Amino acid sequence: MGKKALIVADMLNDFIDPQGALYVGPAGREIIPFIAKKIEEGRAAGDLVIFLCDAHDPENGEFRLFGLHAVKGTWGAEVIPELVPQPGDHRVEKTSYSGFYQTGLEDLLRREQVEEVGVMGVCTSICVMETVKELFYRKFSVVVYKDGVADFDPQAHAFALKHMERVFGAKVV
Ligand SMILES: [Zn+2]
Repeated sequence: MGKKALIVADMLNDFIDPQGALYVGPAGREIIPFIAKKIEEGRAAGDLVIFLCDAHDPENGEFRLFGLHAVKGTWGAEVIPELVPQPGDHRVEKTSYSGFYQTGLEDLLRREQVEEVGVMGVCTSICVMETVKELFYRKFSVVVYKDGVADFDPQAHAFALKHMERVFGAKVV
């Protein structure tokens, strides 16, 4: 049996702190305790814990759509204090929605012989779904924890959960 990994997407101050530049809203805060618990369990079981983090260049094209957020090296791009990465955890920086776009995520998962990936974080219909789609293409087994994902838009959230299950073969639990 291969290893398991947990991906925690964009649980950064700019998305999760009410003072953040692109605050997701209360839905983003409600998932914190669940994610904290899953991370604890994952570390104890020897799973890979991967913080997948926006780290944008101020010139990034995404800002046309969403405004300035998670600029590399700023407070907004740091993981929220409730979930601080520990030694042994991994941090993968990304510059777009997908965790696989110009990142080392695939190398990391292959090197560690990961077979199953649990996904949590924000936003369900954007970075979470784009990453789940890419995991599907690469034939990983994927579990999406519905108590561990959130979105600005409740309808997009519901659609994305359904879509990831039906179209990208994720187990939504
Ligand atoms: Zn972004």
